[in-house]
Amino acid sequence: MKFIACSLLLATPLMAQEKKKLYPDAPQIPGWPYSVHDTTRPQPRKVESGGAVSVSAPSDAKVLFDGSNLDAWKGPWLIKEGILVAHKGKLSTKEEFGDCQLHIEWRIPAEREVSGQKGGNSGVFFMGRYEVQVLESHSNETYPDGQAGAIYGQYPPLCNASAPQGDWQSYDIIFKAPRYKDGKCIQPAQVTVIHNGVVVQAAQNYMGPSAHQKLASYPKEHPEKAPLSLQFHGDPIEFRNIWIRDLGKYDQQSS
Ligand code: MG
Repeated sequence: MKFIACSLLLATPLMAQEKKKLYPDAPQIPGWPYSVHDTTRPQPRKVESGGAVSVSAPSDAKVLFDGSNLDAWKGPWLIKEGILVAHKGKLSTKEEFGDCQLHIEWRIPAEREVSGQKGGNSGVFFMGRYEVQVLESHSNETYPDGQAGAIYGQYPPLCNASAPQGDWQSYDIIFKAPRYKDGKCIQPAQVTVIHNGVVVQAAQNYMGPSAHQKLASYPKEHPEKAPLSLQFHGDPIEFRNIWIRDLGKYDQQSS
């Protein structure tokens, strides 16, 4: 018994040392014992997935990228052999979207050197504001609210369904725009994310538009629709087969 007690006492400072906070001054998340980008937050458990689940665009979808052109987008990204490659600044859709279903496939090149948030970072930004993180998270550890499938800076994925670097991966995402009344957010933005066929966010509310090292909160003014954008974080990450369905027109409650 004495040995066990001593071991526990010794283990505590060692564990604290191992899990040093990357951003010690980041704000605490209300209702949670963690701060924004908290490296002491538990890492989501790993789930082996089969990699990308490739789904063809349904007949009522708007095809955003099928390998042939960038007609649906504004931004300086490139097409290389039918693959969309992140390049200098964000890429945004010409059309604006609110509630929607998105399918997107992404890949971080196998030869890329990746470390934490560097080398394998991008993101899908609904309404240009609400990020679902894209990152190499199969063999690369970072703060849990910054890994693949995370609502960046807010909620880690329910589990880590990442495929190995170099493999294609897929997101199927259902996004609901926030609702406003009289200059107040009365219903937060919400997202469900399926990563490689595995649910990693289930009808999760955003605390507000995505932010780095800050507590997210809803602004006073908010558009009903805005362009979808893809993040360029300095790394030429690849995308293919992107399509979107406008769910607003099926929402009986929306005016
Ligand atoms: Mg990102």
